[in-house]
Amino acid sequence: MEELAVFGGKPVLSKKIGYGHQYIDDNDIQAVVDVLKSDYLTCGPKIEEAEKKLCEITGAKYAVLIANGTAALHACIFAAGIGKGDEVITTPITFAASANCALYLGAKPVFADIDPDTYNIDPDSIEKCITERTKAVVAVDYTGQAVQLDRIREICDRHNLILIEDAAHSLGTKYNGKAVGSIADMTEFSFHPVKTCTAGEGGAVTTNDYELYKKLVLFRTHGITRVQEWMDKPSEGGWYYQQIDLGYNYRMTDMQAALLSSQLDKLDMFGKRRKELVKRYDAAFAEVPEIIVQKEIPESDTVRHLYVIQFDLDKLKCTRKEVFEALQAEGVGVNVHYIPVYSFPYYKSIGYKMGICPNAEKLYERMISIPLYYSLTDEQQESVITAVKKVINYYKKEA
Ligand SMILES: *Cc1c(COP(=O)(O)O)cnc(C)c1O
Repeated sequence: MEELAVFGGKPVLSKKIGYGHQYIDDNDIQAVVDVLKSDYLTCGPKIEEAEKKLCEITGAKYAVLIANGTAALHACIFAAGIGKGDEVITTPITFAASANCALYLGAKPVFADIDPDTYNIDPDSIEKCITERTKAVVAVDYTGQAVQLDRIREICDRHNLILIEDAAHSLGTKYNGKAVGSIADMTEFSFHPVKTCTAGEGGAVTTNDYELYKKLVLFRTHGITRVQEWMDKPSEGGWYYQQIDLGYNYRMTDMQAALLSSQLDKLDMFGKRRKELVKRYDAAFAEVPEIIVQKEIPESDTVRHLYVIQFDLDKLKCTRKEVFEALQAEGVGVNVHYIPVYSFPYYKSIGYKMGICPNAEKLYERMISIPLYYSLTDEQQESVITAVKKVINYYKKEA
């Protein structure tokens, strides 16, 4: 058997690759440079341009660019009118921001378990978590696959809850033919460099509801407005504005918006390539009984942000940590998405205990994210597959 690189063998990839990487072309660079030479570095025309494109892509009536995805989630919780004593249901298999946003406004995140096959929040578990204090569900399209929006929408309607979709992973994904961004009450996107389209840092919320839109816009800029119909008396003159709510400075710069706008022009191209790569991984791992891949639901036409493999540890003589380190040594960029949010020391300090979501905790012990990004070449992907198979072969139990 071939010696693993972690034990001194020759690595499959002589040059290490990352698990994710942004793709920036000359149009992106030119777009940013043009802004730098223009009159507006912030509050300029690029914000509206990118917002318009997001509306076109998602089919939503309104899009509000916000400084980053975390601030966008904060804005959603604010716009939903959530505060002290309220509960917000979300998944533990997500980036911490999906739950932190409730804490920012004094509300309590409640963790529903995941479906063990799709890894997305389980609608039945959502129902079990609902109390008279529940105000909203933050449903995360984990790895880019849409959650079961029909069922979750129905549950939210029946219990009068606001549905916030954390679509940080799922820009470009469609659910039953409708783009993510036009289905939930509010949908949040992130444009961090590992996400499908980037602004450096950036986020957005889309909605079809004018009242929510108004609150999102106010929250982004201190609660300040120049819109006459939102003011309580006629304007005193050209300089006049009013603060009618308490917001923050959560604006994106025009440099970032220009980069995002240029990136959004490539979304179809990015999505197509990501789908090709996922298909090839799925085909390659279908032959490996020690690897379990994420189950896809037919309703979701998915632009995948992450490719996650789960190891059937009963069939391997090793831990996830050993596989992780072996793959790293082979030159494969790996990561784990995610550590269950409630297991962090901060969450423990505010009263959360292990054991509340067994499916999530089990998945966490067994999963690894492997490289998936637009510019990953066929050859690099083949090497990743070779490395994964090499490591599995080394550690697999004799049948
Ligand atoms: C990236 C991410 C966010 C937050 O986005 P930032 O732009 O980094 O603040 C929120 N939720 C999920 C699921 C994410 O992956």
